[in-house]
Amino acid sequence: GRSMAVFTSGGDSQGMNSAVRSVVRMGIYLGCKVYFIYEGYQGMCDGGENIREADWNLVSDIIQRGGTIIGSARCKDFREKEGRLKACFNLIEKDITNLVCIGGDGSLTGANTFRQEWPSLVKELLQQGKISKEKAEKCGNIQIVGLVGSIDNDFCGTDMTIGTDTALQRIIEAVDAVMATAQSHQRAFVIEVMGRHCGYLGLVAALASEADFCFIPEWPPPTNWREILCAKLHHTRSTGNRLNIIIVAEGAIDREGKPITVEIVRDVIKNTLHYDTRATVLGHVQRGGNPSAFDRLLGCRMGAEAVLALMEMTPESEPCVVSIDGNQMVRVPLMECVARTQAVQKAMDGKEWELAVKLRGRS
Ligand code: ADP
Repeated sequence: GRSMAVFTSGGDSQGMNSAVRSVVRMGIYLGCKVYFIYEGYQGMCDGGENIREADWNLVSDIIQRGGTIIGSARCKDFREKEGRLKACFNLIEKDITNLVCIGGDGSLTGANTFRQEWPSLVKELLQQGKISKEKAEKCGNIQIVGLVGSIDNDFCGTDMTIGTDTALQRIIEAVDAVMATAQSHQRAFVIEVMGRHCGYLGLVAALASEADFCFIPEWPPPTNWREILCAKLHHTRSTGNRLNIIIVAEGAIDREGKPITVEIVRDVIKNTLHYDTRATVLGHVQRGGNPSAFDRLLGCRMGAEAVLALMEMTPESEPCVVSIDGNQMVRVPLMECVARTQAVQKAMDGKEWELAVKLRGRS
């Protein structure tokens, strides 16, 4: 069988463990040798004990845990060619030429670069006398499959990313909790949720929690948003409501591109309507807790599909991302996804919000 390795990289998300478990078990089931790479790209660059063979039992009792048991990291070394050369050597040493990368768009962009560079890295190691000619021939190319683990749902090419559903559960629980006290004290709560470039969590949380207002990066409000907001809140109070909930995505901005923060919104409400108003930042709580059934299943399905994809790939195959389209697991070229995700960012930077939303939609 083939040798393959799985690693998690970038921001952690709930359901990554389920994907790791699935890759290990599907790999072993199909007769492969499966390795863990601990601490993401850092472990790949450092090698040694960071690359260890996995077995069936090592992934027992992890499907219900948040985060990732094999660790994740941000790694400077891998951004430089020198670091990627070390990573290449460490993988070749163990005959690993199949990789499953579970991470966000940064991690997958790095994987794409690695794949493109691989043949030249192998050549360089051969010239330096670090590997034999046989090894160089045997490991002449690398096959890579990406799985998107991110709570933000910010990746083009998949309907959902691993972790988003659970993060939404955490947000909804927090909003529900805050509503009890808001109701008792007739307060307005302005709640910040994660999402630096993507308002998915903010928008869906607002819909699911019956929020009065929501600010997201892709849809900056009209310039007179302060009046619109206050009129809306005043209206809900005048019809008998005792509380207000306003959801603000981390990356929310106005039409000039200036941040709209929970503090700014709170002060607008306080100063205009004189409501008792509190700002709450949910922060890393959103990454915590046990994964939802949906994320466990998504991790399982994507992990298994990743192994199947690797089994079918040849040294010529371009890297792909396993994504969910409707309710189907599909393989999409990694390059295409990365390019589209970058195009969305470019559109947002250029204040072309409608274009950004269109680009992010399903292909
Ligand atoms: P995420 O994967 O969650 O988007 P990051 O953007 O921080 O998180 O990326 C995680 C890691 O992936 C980085 O610390 C770095 O090691 C690697 N990486 C990201 N972008 C690149 C790139 N363009 N080239 C090489 N490696 C990269």
